[in-house]
Amino acid sequence: MILEAKNLSKIYGGSSPGAFYKALDQFNLTINEGEFVGIMGPSGSGKSTLLQILGTIETPSSGELVMDGENVVAMKQTQLADFRREKLGFIFQDFQLLDSLSIKENMLVPLVLNKKSNQEMEERVKQVAAYLGIEAILSQRPYEVSGGQKQRAAAARALIHQPSLVLADEPTGNLDSKSAKALMELLVDLNHQEQTTILMVTHDPVTASYCDRILFIQDGRLLNEIYQGDRRADF
Ligand code: ADP
Ligand code: ADP
Repeated sequence: MILEAKNLSKIYGGSSPGAFYKALDQFNLTINEGEFVGIMGPSGSGKSTLLQILGTIETPSSGELVMDGENVVAMKQTQLADFRREKLGFIFQDFQLLDSLSIKENMLVPLVLNKKSNQEMEERVKQVAAYLGIEAILSQRPYEVSGGQKQRAAAARALIHQPSLVLADEPTGNLDSKSAKALMELLVDLNHQEQTTILMVTHDPVTASYCDRILFIQDGRLLNEIYQGDRRADF
C-alpha cells in the first residue's frame, strides 16, 4: 500500500483553555497503489487539514503516517522537504502556476528540483504534454491560456516527476463543467496508464464520480465510504 494513516488527530489552538479544536479525530486511512480516492465532507469537516498532513505541510498532533514505506511523522524538516519533492505532486484549486515562467518551464520545476538530466526533462515534458493535450501552449505564459488549459498544465506539473501520490485540492473548483469533465477524464487516464495514485478533495459530486472510492468525512472522522464499480459517470 502507498499510504497508511492510523489514528491521525489534529488539534488546533490550545494556547488558552477551552480554545482547542479537533480538526481531525483518530482518522484512519489506507490507500493502495494506483487508487483514485475522493474525499468529500461539509465545510470545516477537516478535509484541508487531512490534505495538509498527507502533504507533509502540517504535522499531526498524534497518530501514525506511513507513505511509500516511510514513516513521515518521524522525519525532520529537511527529510520532509526531500520526501515532498520526490514523492508528492500537488494540484490546487487556483492552479498556482508561476506567471513569470512559460507552461513548459512550470512543468520543468519538479524535474529541475529532482536534478533530472536535460534529456530526461525534454522527453518527459514531451510525453506528459502529449498526454494532457497541451503541446500547443508550452511556450505560453499561464495568463495567456484558458482556465482549463491552466489546470491541465498544473496537472502536468504535478505528475511529471512520477510521484508516488498526487494530492488534489478542489481541482475543478475554478473550471466550467466542460473543462472539469476534460480534466477528470485525463486524470482517470493518467491514473490508469501511469498507475499514479491520486487523492482528491472535492465538493462537487460530478468530480467525485470519477474516483474509485469516495470517503465522506464529518467532524474530523470518517463517516462513510463508497466504492464505485464503474467509476466513470456517463452523463
Ligand atoms: P475543510 O477543509 O473540510 O473545510 P478544515 O480542515 O479547513 O476543513 O478545517 C477543519 C476545522 O479546523 C475547521 O473548524 C477550521 O476552522 C479548523 N482549522 C483549520 N485550520 C486551522 C488552523 N490553522 N487554526 C485553527 N483552526 C483551524
Ligand atoms: P478550503 O475552503 O479550501 O478548505 P479553508 O478556508 O478551510 O480552505 O482553509 C484555508 C486555510 O486557512 C487552510 O490552510 C486552513 O488550515 C486555514 N484555516 C482554516 N480555518 C482556520 C482557522 N479557524 N484559524 C486559522 N487558520 C484556519
